[in-house]
Amino acid sequence: MRLRAFVSRRVVTPQGVRPAAILVEGELVREVVTPEQVPAGADLQDFGETAILPGLVDSHVHINDPGRADWEGFETATRAAAAGGYTLLVDMPLNCLPATTTVEGLDAKRAAAKDRCRVDWAAWGGVVADNQNAIESLAHAGVPGFKCFLVPPGIDGFTMVTEAQLRAALPHVARTGLPLLVHAELPGPIDRATQELEDADWSCYPTYLKSRPEEAELSAIRLLLSLCREYNFRLVSVETCPHYLHIAAETIPKGATLFKCAPPIRGRDNCEKLWQGLRDGIIDLVATDHSPCPLEMKRLADANFKTAWGGIASLSVALPVMYTEARARGFTLADIARWMAEAPAKLARCDKQKGRIAAGYDADFVVFGPEDEFEISRDRLHYRHAVSPYLGEKLQGVVKATYLRGKEVFRAGEFPGEATGRECRC
Ligand SMILES: [Zn+2]
Repeated sequence: MRLRAFVSRRVVTPQGVRPAAILVEGELVREVVTPEQVPAGADLQDFGETAILPGLVDSHVHINDPGRADWEGFETATRAAAAGGYTLLVDMPLNCLPATTTVEGLDAKRAAAKDRCRVDWAAWGGVVADNQNAIESLAHAGVPGFKCFLVPPGIDGFTMVTEAQLRAALPHVARTGLPLLVHAELPGPIDRATQELEDADWSCYPTYLKSRPEEAELSAIRLLLSLCREYNFRLVSVETCPHYLHIAAETIPKGATLFKCAPPIRGRDNCEKLWQGLRDGIIDLVATDHSPCPLEMKRLADANFKTAWGGIASLSVALPVMYTEARARGFTLADIARWMAEAPAKLARCDKQKGRIAAGYDADFVVFGPEDEFEISRDRLHYRHAVSPYLGEKLQGVVKATYLRGKEVFRAGEFPGEATGRECRC
C-alpha cells in the first residue's frame, strides 16, 4: 500500500505541538516520526507552518434526521462538520422522528445515515419517561451512552424524566456501564421565575436569562450527584460550548433571538469562570450543541425570547471561535485538541480510533492556519439554514482542509469525493 507522509512544523500530538511527519497507510496512521525520518519513496505533502490537529469530535450535535431533515439532516450536518474540522459527530437522541429511544429508532437512524455522511457519526440513546426496558437493548445495539432531560426539551417525540422516572431507569443505565448525559436544569426554579416574568418584556435577553436562574442548574447537579452515589452509574464529565465561552449576556442585542439556547448564555463573569474551569481541568470538553432549526422558528420578526426556538448552530465555525478566545488567554492548539478531540472521543468510547494523532488511529486531520483571519459570512456556514449569531465576526484561524481516514473531505470551501462517512462503533 502507498505510504503517505503529512509533514508540518506544527503537528498537534498527545505529546505536544511539534515538527513531525505523520505516516499514513490507507485509512490509518502508521507512525508519527520526525520530518527527517520520512522513508524514501513516501508520497510527501509538506504543510509548512500550517498546523495539523486531530480531526475534531463533537459529542453533542442535533442532526434531526430522520424525521426533521428539513431542520438539518445528515448531508448538511456532516458537510458543515467537514468544513469545521470535525471528523466524528455524536448525534443526540431527540429532534429526530422516531427519537433514538428504542432499537427500532436506532435502526431508522442507521438507515437515514447510510451513504449520506461526509464524516463519521455515532448516536447517543435516549432515556425518556417510559423506555426503561429499552435501555439495555440499546446498549447491546451499539449506542455509546444515553442522554436525558430533567426539563421539557421543547420538542414532540422526546419526554423529560421526573426524578421517579429517572430512578426507574438508573439501574438499567448502571448495568450497561455506559455514561448518562444529562441536560441539567430542573423545572421548579424555571417555572417559578417564568411566572413572575409574565408581564416582562420578552424581547429583552435579560428577561429570558432571569427565567432560567442558576438555581435550576445547581439543584439539578445536586440531584444527579446524589443519584450517582445511590445507583453507581457513570456521570463523570463536564461539557461546555463555544457560545458560552465566546458570548456574554451583556452583549446580546434586544430581540436577537439567534442567541437563545438552554441553559442560557450568562454574564461575562460566568464566561470567565468557565475558562477558569477549563484551565483547572474541572471542565473536560467543549462540544457545539449544534442545534439548528428553520429560520421562521427563530421568530426574528416578533423578537420574542419566550417563543423562539432555543439552539445555536455552529459546527462550521466552532474551531476558529474557540481558537480566537483560547489564544487570547494563553492556551495552545494542544489544549484545543484535548477539549475538542481527545476528551469527547473518550466520552463517546471512540478513543481507540478517534481524537488523537497517534499510531493505529484513524488518519483524521484538520489542516488549520492559526495566523489567518477571516470574517464569518453565510457562505462559510454550510449547514442547511445559513443563520448564525456569529455572522460578521472576525475570527483568528482558518480550517483549510479536513481529512477523514486519509481522504480529503474538505478543502477551501469544496467537498471533494463521495460521502464515505460511516458509523463509528468501538
Ligand atoms: Zn443539545
